[in-house]
Amino acid sequence: NSSEIKILLLENVNETAVKAFNKEGYQVETYSKALVGDELLDKIKDAHVIGIRSKTKLTKEVLEHAKNLLVIGCFCIGTNQVDLHAAASLGISVFNSPFSNSRSVAELVIGEVISLARQLGDRNNEMHQGIWNKVSKNCYEIRGKILGIVGYGHIGAQLSVLAESMGMTVYFYDVLQIMPLGTAKQTESLEELLSIADFVSLHVPELEETKNMIGEREIMTYMKKGAYLLNNARGTVVQIPALVKGLQTGHLAGAAIDVYPKEPASNGPHFTDYPDLLACPNLIMTPHIGGSTEEAQSMIGIEVSSALVKFINEGGSIGAVNFPEVDLRAIREEETDTVRVCVVHRNVPGFLRAINEIFADHNVEKQYSDSKGDIAYVMADISNVTEDQLHTLYNAITATAANIRTRVLY
Ligand code: NAD
Repeated sequence: NSSEIKILLLENVNETAVKAFNKEGYQVETYSKALVGDELLDKIKDAHVIGIRSKTKLTKEVLEHAKNLLVIGCFCIGTNQVDLHAAASLGISVFNSPFSNSRSVAELVIGEVISLARQLGDRNNEMHQGIWNKVSKNCYEIRGKILGIVGYGHIGAQLSVLAESMGMTVYFYDVLQIMPLGTAKQTESLEELLSIADFVSLHVPELEETKNMIGEREIMTYMKKGAYLLNNARGTVVQIPALVKGLQTGHLAGAAIDVYPKEPASNGPHFTDYPDLLACPNLIMTPHIGGSTEEAQSMIGIEVSSALVKFINEGGSIGAVNFPEVDLRAIREEETDTVRVCVVHRNVPGFLRAINEIFADHNVEKQYSDSKGDIAYVMADISNVTEDQLHTLYNAITATAANIRTRVLY
């Protein structure tokens, strides 16, 4: 019954999410700050759902205290604040919002491309010091220039469309073969891309293979003299000393950097790890704001709340970060004698046989199971079930040794 579902939302989770939960008829309790210690334990103990951002720490101890908790929504990109493995072992799935800010990042890149081509960062700094420096030398239009995109995923592809609409020619490099949008073209290698692009924009995830991907060899040997480098992906992708060398020698005409190998944990005057960057010409630096817009925040609210509602109401776990991903279409209203059984269980041999023996007297309409490490999840729609049989079914499943958490939805 949806009116019995208790949702605890901390850290000012976006209003779009509160609205979505209210619409479902759930009980919603909101706090503007992160909760810690006893206060967190006290509030989380009855909640079926908790929504947090980056500051609330959901450790194994906290999660063990949360006896009713079904699902965690991280209304942000990162999930380091949650013990994902402990959550999965307790049958709690975790969702986040990796792609809500793709457009915001792509738009920032367009702004940076123009700013670099026109040396806007330097002109702005000079004006703030009272210096009038009207120059046109080495200032360019972006029309007709080649943009090289490294990593053609959610952000890279958005950027491709925006850049073409401004008259740029787009090439991209990706480890996957990807259907180009518009008239963009994929290159065979990173080196090929670097050697033709006027602007190189990085949009790869942080992986072992992308760590230090752009160093002295890539910048000084492969990138064209007078090219620009933009990193709005992850700080570890670019080697800072190589970037400094590229800018100081004038090999690079400029760069825009939003992310750094080491970033301060809070706002304030403590960005002190990279003094060499400060003296570089035509370098635009921003404090990891690529995805930080009001629109992205409300998209996050919508994206995460809809994943949570789907999990609560239908059991679907597609997009969960710590959990097997399973989905079946919603049971239709006319399927009145059909129930959905959702079982999170330890991934041990023989469980599916055991559960199908329990289902044996009913008609299994659909079944879908998946595993991730030592946790597995099976969803089954069974028909011809009476109210009494429901209880027998439920008790039989929860009595199995491998059962972690079972829900019957109807
Ligand atoms: P995505 O997963 O949609 O796309 C990444 C693409 O990179 C994929 O197409 C993948 O195949 C490709 N790729 C992976 N390894 C590669 C390699 N070694 N060489 C070439 N291509 C490779 O990701 P996304 O949403 O587009 O995000 C891209 C990056 O942007 C991520 O690192 C993300 O953390 C970062 N990001 C930064 C901000 C910010 O505030 N600056 C905001 C959002 C995302």
